[in-house]
This record gives sequence, structure tokens and C-alpha cells, in this order.
Amino acid sequence: MTKVLKMSSSSRQTLTREADLDFDVGRVRADFPILRTRVHGHDLVYLDNAATSQKPRAVIEAISRYYDCDNANIHRGVHYLSERATADYESARKTIQSFLHASRPEEIVFVRGTTEAINLVAQTYGRQHIRAGDEVLITAMEHHSNIVPWQLLCEEKGAKLKVAPINEDGELILEEFERLLGPQTKMVAVSHISNALGTLNPIATIIKMAHAIGIPVLVDGAQAVPRMPLDVQELDCDFYAFSGHKAYGPTGIGALYGKLALLERIPPYQGGGDMISSVTFEKTIYNKVPHKFEAGTPDIAGAVGLGAALEYLNDLGMANIAAHEHELLAYATDVVSAIPGVRLIGTAKEKSGVLSFVMDGVHPHDIGTILDQEGIAIRTGHHCAQPVMEWFGVDATARASFGVYNTKQEIDALARGVEKVRKVFA
Ligand code: PMP
Repeated sequence: MTKVLKMSSSSRQTLTREADLDFDVGRVRADFPILRTRVHGHDLVYLDNAATSQKPRAVIEAISRYYDCDNANIHRGVHYLSERATADYESARKTIQSFLHASRPEEIVFVRGTTEAINLVAQTYGRQHIRAGDEVLITAMEHHSNIVPWQLLCEEKGAKLKVAPINEDGELILEEFERLLGPQTKMVAVSHISNALGTLNPIATIIKMAHAIGIPVLVDGAQAVPRMPLDVQELDCDFYAFSGHKAYGPTGIGALYGKLALLERIPPYQGGGDMISSVTFEKTIYNKVPHKFEAGTPDIAGAVGLGAALEYLNDLGMANIAAHEHELLAYATDVVSAIPGVRLIGTAKEKSGVLSFVMDGVHPHDIGTILDQEGIAIRTGHHCAQPVMEWFGVDATARASFGVYNTKQEIDALARGVEKVRKVFA
């Protein structure tokens, strides 16, 4: 692993902790069958990882093996296959627990993804604790899925959504955030890494500030889980939400971490099978945590696939992945920002994985379409973060986002593609 570029000493220490000199991107690429796809006569250059990442063979095979050998419904069966399926599902929960460094598997609730995890917290903890006149504090860089669930809750309760502002680099203004924390604040919800800007928020400091006055914190970890080593106990967050499909796992599965004592105190999210311990028409006794939050038959194969994905990431080493992606981001920042007419959106000192930009006189959709002709997949649009786009005075950006299998050669291809766009519109 070559050195990490342009980083503060504190993040350098985190990201290179335990970094392994053997991270071999060529070997990593060989694990992803889809990377052999040819697109319009070119090798695929997949730079849309913040939207969803590709899946290694280990994940595809784990799902297929589950259906080949173990498929049955879980928890309720006494037969051989049901026991195997239950063991697979619960073992995936343990993998997530250890990946996040949660203290117990009961603290991991399977959900469809980040969106469902945040809605779950808003509709359970939120409904239980937030009253008229209370406030929920988020930041100006949130994804819609960390805005709208809180708006729904605030509307229902007559509470207020407060938004901590960002500066011109797309960094949270911490003093303003702290100023907005007050006696009315009942919940803080913040993204760990912004999907639109790449900003890596000082999440540990945010949590300390909120806890200093007894306010719980939900972290939207959709972009952080695939990108950096995590320890929810060290962070001391109350809830942590993420999606499997951005972390090299399948779509339709994700997890919510919650501190056990909190999960035990809050009501169920949905009613149905598996979330109960007994039902009569007069009274239902709920199952224990985490099953209390997992009504109905879950995506068992998805959980198995997610477990395989996190094991795969563990084998690569999260510190290696963080260092690799940081190097790609530093390189991409240099080469793309050097192209005349390009303006980066999001220039935080602490960034990860995402390069958002606009070009003079060119709509981002045209950038995306021309790059696609070169086999390069990026995302264009508002990235489900319209308020932050508005703050920067743009409707949309072009966004390249990096993953474990990307290379500097692919970034060179991106830069050549962006140059071509410039010439087309010159
Ligand atoms: N938060 C962030 C920061 C995201 O990047 C995304 C996905 N783009 C989400 C939340 C929502 O994730 P999902 O659609 O998988 O629920």
C-alpha cells in the first residue's frame, strides 16, 4: 500500500491503523465477475459505488449455496432445514455484530436497508419520546432518508426539524450544531459520510456534544460501513443504520444497530409473525429484542449474503480499504479538478469515497451520458439530497464514487472522459 495522501494526522492514524502492505487491487477485481462486462466497446469502469456496489463471487455463491442447501423458513420450524436456515440467519447477525463491534447480537436488527432503519427509529423511539414543541436536529447535508422520516414524525407530533448548517466546503459548522442543541432537542440524526459531498463528519465529537445534554444520536452509516473501520461502542452512538447493497452485499437487506437498553424500551415497529411471544385477541406479548422488530418472514438469503459480504470486507481489511479509497479520492481530486471548467462540490478536509462536480455550461446528465458511451458509470442528479444541492446553488452534480476494486487507471479514464465532454461542449 502506498502512502495516504492529503490527510490530517488524526484521520491518517485511523485509516492506516493495521493497514496491510498486501492489498492487491488486481486480485480484488478478479473476485467481481461483473467487472468483466464490456460497455459500448469499452471495459466497464464502475464509479457508481455510492449508489450501489458490485458483488464479489463470495456473496453470489453464499446466496446460491443457501438456496441450494439450506432454504426453509426460520425460527418456527423443528425440522433439519429450518434449523440450518435459522443458524445461517443468526450467524449473519453475529457477523454484523462483530463487524460493527457491537457488544451483543441482540443489538442488530435486520431491516431492508438504511431507509427502513431510520423509519424504524423515527416511528418507535421517535413516536415514544417526541412531543409537541420538541426538536429533532439533523444537518444540511442529509440524504432524503434521514430527512423525510423525521419530517413525518414532526408533522404528526407538532415538533420541529432543526437543521445544522454547513460551510462552503460542505463541512458541518460544529459551533452552530452545538448552538442548536438545546433543552427542546430530543433526537440527533446525522450521516457519517455524506453521499452527495463525501464529507466525513466528526461523528465522535457530535455524539459527545449530544450526550453531554442527554440526547441520543442516530448515525446514518450507509456510506461509511463499506469505507472505514467502525466501532459502535467506541463511538457510543445510540443507533447506527446501514444498507447491505452499498457494502458489497445484496439489495433488500440492511441492519440497524441499537443499544440493547434502548431497543428493549421502545415499542415494536410492525406487527405480525415472529415479533410476538404470544397472541390472544385481548393481548399480545412481544418477542424479545431483536425479534420484536422483525415482523414477518425476513430476507433470509439476503442476510446470508450480507454476512458473506462483511466477511469478505474483513478479509480485505477495512483499514486497507479506507487507505486504498483515500488514495483514489486524492488522485481523482487532483486530475478532475485540473480540467478547465470543472468545479468540485464538496471540498471538506475530511472526505471519503465520493467526488461530486459540475462543469461550466454542461448539464450533469450530459456528462453522465457521454461518459457512459466510454463505458464509465457515474451518477448524475440530486443524489436524494436536494437541500444540499440547493445550498450549493445547483440542481444536480456528476458524482464519481469509489470502491475496493477501482484503480488509478480507471480514474485516468474518467479524466479523459471529462476532457472529452469539455471538448464536445466547447
Ligand atoms: N443515507 C445515505 C447517506 C445514502 O447514501 C443512502 C443511499 N444513497 C441512503 C441513506 C439510503 O439507503 P437505502 O436506499 O439503501 O435505504
